[in-house]
Amino acid sequence: MKKTKSLRREAVDYEKLYEETIKELHDGESSSAFANALKQFDRAAETLKLTNNQVAVIKDPRRVVQVKLPVRMDDGSIKIFKGFRVQHNIARGPAKGGVRFHPDVNEDEVAALAFWMTYKCAVVNIPFGGGKGGIVVDPRKLSMGELERLARRYFAEMMDIFGPERDVPAPDVNTNPQIMAWFMDTYSMHHQNYIPGVVTGKPIDLGGSQGRNSATAQGMVHCVHKAADYFKMDLKGTTVAIQGYGNAGSFAARLLAKDGCIIKAISDVDGAFFSDKGIDPENACQYVEKNGSLINYDKAAKVKKIADPMKLLELDVDILIPAALENQITHKNADKVRARIIAECANGPLTTEADDIMEKKGTFIIPDILCNAGGVTVSYFEWVQNRMGYYWDEDRVLDELKRYMDKAFDDVLRTSIHYNVPMRTAAFIVSIQRVTRAAELRGLYA
Ligand code: GLU
Repeated sequence: MKKTKSLRREAVDYEKLYEETIKELHDGESSSAFANALKQFDRAAETLKLTNNQVAVIKDPRRVVQVKLPVRMDDGSIKIFKGFRVQHNIARGPAKGGVRFHPDVNEDEVAALAFWMTYKCAVVNIPFGGGKGGIVVDPRKLSMGELERLARRYFAEMMDIFGPERDVPAPDVNTNPQIMAWFMDTYSMHHQNYIPGVVTGKPIDLGGSQGRNSATAQGMVHCVHKAADYFKMDLKGTTVAIQGYGNAGSFAARLLAKDGCIIKAISDVDGAFFSDKGIDPENACQYVEKNGSLINYDKAAKVKKIADPMKLLELDVDILIPAALENQITHKNADKVRARIIAECANGPLTTEADDIMEKKGTFIIPDILCNAGGVTVSYFEWVQNRMGYYWDEDRVLDELKRYMDKAFDDVLRTSIHYNVPMRTAAFIVSIQRVTRAAELRGLYA
């Protein structure tokens, strides 16, 4: 395939974008995920007393790429899609982060997600920077062939952006191991070489890692165990509500049920469901496998349908797990959230205003950049295995994951106690220190 030219754009002035968004606050809160991310950064930067120079080097994205993706549809017509990749920071290693396929994808969101990846990789101390990508598409409306052509075109357009030493994508919302296999093949064919390390989250048969599928949820469970130890809580009989039943949410439900937790409610785009006795997560997974989503699950499993799915967030449960999209808990509903612990499997599910309300109520939040870092941690193991050409068994992956997650949780908790700040600010303090040190040691190229 011929090398194609990307439609590069000049770097956006993110400081200005941030200021404008703040000015545009509608009824007291911004809906910009990126503005929310920067507010989180500012809180930690203030505690750390970072200089203007330090902030200038690590706060904004390093590179923003937008591409036009023409795809031939099954009926012969050509449809144009829009794709993004943002590399936020590469001081500590190649950019790392997923690619999502969703109709609401936009530059602001991808920039926020890339930003969180920088600090997520730093908080678990794996040698990567942060990146994220996305395509504006509802993949449910595409055939398998159309999906493959779209995925391959995206990777081809980004050929000079990605690379095992440059930028390594992975699955995210609505993307999966098959899509990663197409990405890997497109890159490998172009370079006339077998290059599995260009992407993680691949199928096991193509250099994927054992344990990658359940890694995000497994990492979250390690954090929940640590939090339960800290609060001397017995997980047996602990009640849980989970928003989102994709990869992270469905594994979270199964793993926590094994610990004796009662999964009181689950939801996805097609509805939210509740059972006082507890939902059987295995049964729900089989249902999704068969029907594509939880649609009409109430009838099949004799559970209650929650009329307004957002009410799932307000249920009287011990642990709430947002495992869907950003900005789910805002100043509008934070007051009504009753869980004692929020374990953020999704990226950015709470706004800073919601954070402040939860903080006043004494809710313990395990922040996204720590709580869902298990996925990228096992991605790191996959990349290491690809480069070694030597593959680990599942026990080794799970042991190493536990070691990384436990250490990260301890670092963040210790920092939270030391500075007397919430866990989120503490996670940023730990990670900002690591990124700043790397950036300063490298200095400026010219
Ligand atoms: N998309 C996942 C995340 O948000 C995983 C990224 C990766 O494995 O690179 O953390």
